[in-house]
Amino acid sequence: MQTRKITIIGAGIVGIATASYLRRDGHEVTVVDQLPPGEYCSFGNAGILSPGSCIPIAMPGILGQLPGYLLDPLGPLSIKSSYFPRVLPWLLRFLATARVDRVQATADALRSLLVQTFDAYAPLVHTAGVGDLIHKSGYVVAYSSREAMQGDALGWQLRRERGVVMDELNSAQINSYLPDLKGNYKSGLFLHDHGWCANPERLTKALASQFVSDGGVILQRKVLAIDVGATGPRALWTDDGRLPVEHLIICAGAHSNQFTQQCGDSVPLEAERGYHITYSDPRFQLAHPIMLPEYKCFVTPMEMGLRIAGHSEFAGIDAPPNDRRFEILETLMQRMFPGIRSVDSTRWMGRRPSMPDSMPVIGRSSEFANTFYAFGHGHVGLVGGAPTGRLMADLIAGRPDRIDLKPFSVNRFK
Ligand SMILES: Cc1cc2nc3c(=O)[nH]c(=O)nc-3n(C[C@H](O)[C@H](O)[C@H](O)COP(=O)(O)OP(=O)(O)OC[C@H]3O[C@@H](n4cnc5c(N)ncnc54)[C@H](O)[C@@H]3O)c2cc1C
Repeated sequence: MQTRKITIIGAGIVGIATASYLRRDGHEVTVVDQLPPGEYCSFGNAGILSPGSCIPIAMPGILGQLPGYLLDPLGPLSIKSSYFPRVLPWLLRFLATARVDRVQATADALRSLLVQTFDAYAPLVHTAGVGDLIHKSGYVVAYSSREAMQGDALGWQLRRERGVVMDELNSAQINSYLPDLKGNYKSGLFLHDHGWCANPERLTKALASQFVSDGGVILQRKVLAIDVGATGPRALWTDDGRLPVEHLIICAGAHSNQFTQQCGDSVPLEAERGYHITYSDPRFQLAHPIMLPEYKCFVTPMEMGLRIAGHSEFAGIDAPPNDRRFEILETLMQRMFPGIRSVDSTRWMGRRPSMPDSMPVIGRSSEFANTFYAFGHGHVGLVGGAPTGRLMADLIAGRPDRIDLKPFSVNRFK
């Protein structure tokens, strides 16, 4: 196989997994990021590794649900009014994808990507010595009523049809999985073959350290622009000068469109902001994560304590965190675990790189043979990180595609 000189913009989980797989193929790989690895969106996610998260966010009927989400004081969605005109085109595209035929096709494509997660992470975490971070013992989904669960019936049916194995739970069974959980959860599910990462930041940093030990290079620089010649990118302009490139992969998370645009591809990417609170001393630990679909959040047992994470906020990429979102997460946590100690808890806001069709962009640029894209994973960037890295290495090596990459193409927006 011909080895190449490859530069990657972005040291989140997607960029680092891609760099790791490319280095394993012997390529000369440099990752450029303004931050140390894993300190942007990949820092504070819920850690969920869910091969069954193949359902797009915009499901049929979402339009009718939006007012309820926006008006509920504990609702999971908010749109900053001054940002509404800016996000409206993205929202219209998002709503346009909520058709049954479209959702079926998305579920097929996402499932083909995400089902690879444990297999694709295994060699990376094994070599980096962090296999302890990956847990594969399933998680609990809990609803306040049977009717609420029936409202999501299509999503669960689509998952089942694609081989996701789940058991229905009544409230006693939910409690037997999670004895510390209080509150009235009437119906739920247990998802087998699912799991979690006990520290997404440590995972990304450990894979990055291993990449460097294996001869990869990480440069801490802000990329300001791409110098694009007639045959494609030939250098990056950074805050520390010009950096020549031969092959370029854009993995810059929610900032990726700034770079694809310079390569001739305009993509509808939005920073979908989410929040977490990590309780460092909860005085108990859960045996499994719990997902609350009505509140669009997860509670995950992390090595740093117990983390509640979720919500969707559209307020622009640079707006400061919204304290109201933390108050809501705190209220939900106190309902589930009354009296949980919030002393020393930590708070974080992150920017999901979200496409309106809930599908990442994975593949070649539409213009240049030396340019590739891997971004836009939205809610599934951790579970999709290692599978994406492996697919990118296959693509660059010219190995046969493991999955059909056409649905992930940037050309779908032309
Ligand atoms: C609250 C919350 C919970 C979540 N829970 C889950 C979950 O349970 N499971 C799951 O699979 N996913 C989850 N996600 C989504 C997941 O975290 C993201 O999809 C994933 O982290 C995206 O990874 P990335 O590498 O594409 O982007 P990032 O981690 O954002 O990395 C992009 C990198 O590009 C760099 N960059 C950007 N611009 C420049 C520039 N100009 N110059 C240099 N570098 C630049 C950034 O500094 C950053 O390091 C969650 C997200 C949130 C917010």
